[in-house]
Amino acid sequence: MVFLAVRRAKALQITLAIIKPDAVAHPLISEAIHQKILDQQFIVVRSKELIWRRDDSERFYAEHKGRFFYQRLVEFMSSGPMRAYILARENAISHWRELMGPTKTYRARYLSPESIRGKYGLTDTRNTTHGSDSLDSAEREIAFFFPEFNKKCWYEMDEPLIRAGY
Ligand code: UDP
Repeated sequence: MVFLAVRRAKALQITLAIIKPDAVAHPLISEAIHQKILDQQFIVVRSKELIWRRDDSERFYAEHKGRFFYQRLVEFMSSGPMRAYILARENAISHWRELMGPTKTYRARYLSPESIRGKYGLTDTRNTTHGSDSLDSAEREIAFFFPEFNKKCWYEMDEPLIRAGY
């Protein structure tokens, strides 16, 4: 008798990634980061370049209001173009955060020199990239950047085809 084990592959996870203004200002760096995204088998579900107004920056980083770096951060994030992505992959959230490396530049350089921030981070604020840190924040941040994105529809229509290799 032949037993067939039918294992349903796990659905791809989606996350919100940003190439911040410091990296977008340097085309070779933003291109290298984009290439890393592709090399690491992320699917680019959506992508767009945009410039924030200061109040966009304040709303996005509201949880950091009052911290010593808040003003510097909101100013920097609204200082020039950035590129936002919805990325899909297995364990997209943790994998992207691992590729980014630690928040602070000195930690990134010494503890994770091959990470994106380890290679290209300039300061603790100008640290090249952002990535959602949980399922909840991915949901919230994707809606912030891509309000027209219909997650339910994407999981019903597109995700199964991508996972099947179409
Ligand atoms: N940040 C900063 N100084 C700090 C810590 C954070 O300027 O000491 C900035 C930095 O740009 C960072 C962002 O605030 O990416 C959000 O901080 P968080 O702790 O959420 O780090 P992340 O999730 O980006 O690694």
